[in-house]
Amino acid sequence: MPESLEGLSYRALESALEHGGVNPVHARPLFSAIQRRLVGPDLAGAEGILPPVQRWLASGAAPASCVLRQSASTASADGFTEKYLLRLADGAEVESVRMGFPGRFTACLSSQVGCAMGCVFCATGQMGFSRHLMAGEIVAQAHHVERCLRTSHGERLRNIVMMGMGEPLHNFEPLMEALDILTDNRGLNIGPARVAISTVGHIPGILKLARHPKRYSLAVSLHGASDAERAALIPVNKKWPLADLIEACREYSAIKRARVFFAWTLIGGVNDSAGHAQRLAELLKGMDAHVNLIPLNATEGYEGEAPTEANVREFQRIIQETGLPSTVRQRRGIDVAAGCGQLKAQRRRPSFAEAER
Ligand code: SAH
Ligand code: SF4
Repeated sequence: MPESLEGLSYRALESALEHGGVNPVHARPLFSAIQRRLVGPDLAGAEGILPPVQRWLASGAAPASCVLRQSASTASADGFTEKYLLRLADGAEVESVRMGFPGRFTACLSSQVGCAMGCVFCATGQMGFSRHLMAGEIVAQAHHVERCLRTSHGERLRNIVMMGMGEPLHNFEPLMEALDILTDNRGLNIGPARVAISTVGHIPGILKLARHPKRYSLAVSLHGASDAERAALIPVNKKWPLADLIEACREYSAIKRARVFFAWTLIGGVNDSAGHAQRLAELLKGMDAHVNLIPLNATEGYEGEAPTEANVREFQRIIQETGLPSTVRQRRGIDVAAGCGQLKAQRRRPSFAEAER
């Protein structure tokens, strides 16, 4: 599939115009219509789009717009979280989420249809891998969330987290292209520090990110502090073992002079004991690190259970005592199936059909 208009960076748009025989100065109003005003497919009629560009758009030589159709959505009872199931041009579906509060809204975006990493507790991992998303399909998800925000709250997006479906660093180039567009100050202008890329621990991707010109925020999913325990939850730990992963994170932190965020999904009786907390603290000793503790969202394909509240508190107390900062991720939106891939998984069951009407 060719790249869509939404997936063209400012520079790529200039060269597409030039290639089509149109003066590249037209990139400015066109980029603004696509990426700032979010005009959508009816670009030819948009303000500032002059006849040479209109002709180019109509010529068939120009890329098409990426239209995502919302096939379902669901909001949490407290209104803080809204989740969208979005249909791509080939009929595949991905999830995007709007989270947060007025003044600091966040979009959680998908990077792939399904995921190849196979983490046992994850609804997306349980689906397997279908395909990578193109840059425009990642950008268009942010546009969808931003349009909903403008309509519902008269607000704009401030943060982006790549924590939806898929392993973002397994789709490196399209991801970098998409984030370059979303952080462009002629577009949505999201600050790079306000973009978090969450990875399963894809070491080559982390090392490339460390050398990338922009400084995005890095979040690494750990969930285990020994190779055996981690590999039981995250099969790719066999390919990218813990010691190498931590070394890559230290390198990232040193090169970027940035704090690295670590996610630890707490699973009752599996990785939520005091011993686990101590081993985690030991593993991250001396690194500028922050731990996000996420109580497990139970999924159909995995028998593990959420931890007790007492265990979550005790786990946090132990790591905090060692000087390792942490937060417990609010389980906001648990009623909207806000776990990764869970809306799509749930939609196959009849109960969800009610919510769609
Ligand atoms: N592939 C990336 C980003 C998407 S998953 C990654 O794995 O980091 C985003 C986060 O949600 C990860 O930390 C992942 O481990 C966590 N997660 C996935 N399924 C979950 C579940 N059922 N309950 C709690 N956390 C889950
Ligand atoms: Fe993929 Fe992340 Fe789910 Fe693992 S947790 S299967 S890497 S989306």
